[in-house]
Amino acid sequence: MSAASLEHRAYIALGSNLGVSAEALDGALEKLSALPGTRVLQVSPWYRSAAIGGPADQPDYLNAVCEITTGLDPRPLLDALHQIEHHFGRERQVRWGPRTLDLDIIWYQNVTSEDPELTLPHPRAHERAFVIRPLADIAPELVLGNQPLNHWLEHTRDQAISRL
Ligand code: ATP
Ligand code: CA
Ligand code: CA
Repeated sequence: MSAASLEHRAYIALGSNLGVSAEALDGALEKLSALPGTRVLQVSPWYRSAAIGGPADQPDYLNAVCEITTGLDPRPLLDALHQIEHHFGRERQVRWGPRTLDLDIIWYQNVTSEDPELTLPHPRAHERAFVIRPLADIAPELVLGNQPLNHWLEHTRDQAISRL
């Protein structure tokens, strides 16, 4: 079996609304590409979005989505994402509170999971323009929640977001 056949495709959402967000996103992409057996194949344009949920009056987010291939299974990949978040100063205090870096696994090839510690595909991604817009830029054929991304683009069109 060739090494390539052990690779899985996945989409990771990146977000930041504290500190120097552009540096956190750039740094996270660099760290992702340095993970074992992992390559960043595509990075979406960056978006600015209003915070949804959590405390009122949060700063806007900087958001993007990237496509990777990786030999890491979903759980070790999530652990690695948590380490990268930690490296960029992520603290978990209030649910959906402001953060220096948030990395979510939106979709991981052929894997579905109901585990609250790692739910795949991400259970709220399709409701969020800040995930769906950049995802549609790099993976227009992807299906989430049994619907094409165009369905979710329409569904989330009222959310405040702009492409940078
Ligand atoms: P949301 O999940 O609604 O985007 P959040 O990103 O603010 O909220 P976090 O505090 O970053 O939530 O993460 C809470 C927990 O979510 C993590 O510890 C992780 O175990 C779990 N989780 C479940 N599914 C996923 C996933 N697909 N990607 C990342 N984390 C996940
Ligand atoms: Ca998130
Ligand atoms: Ca998260």
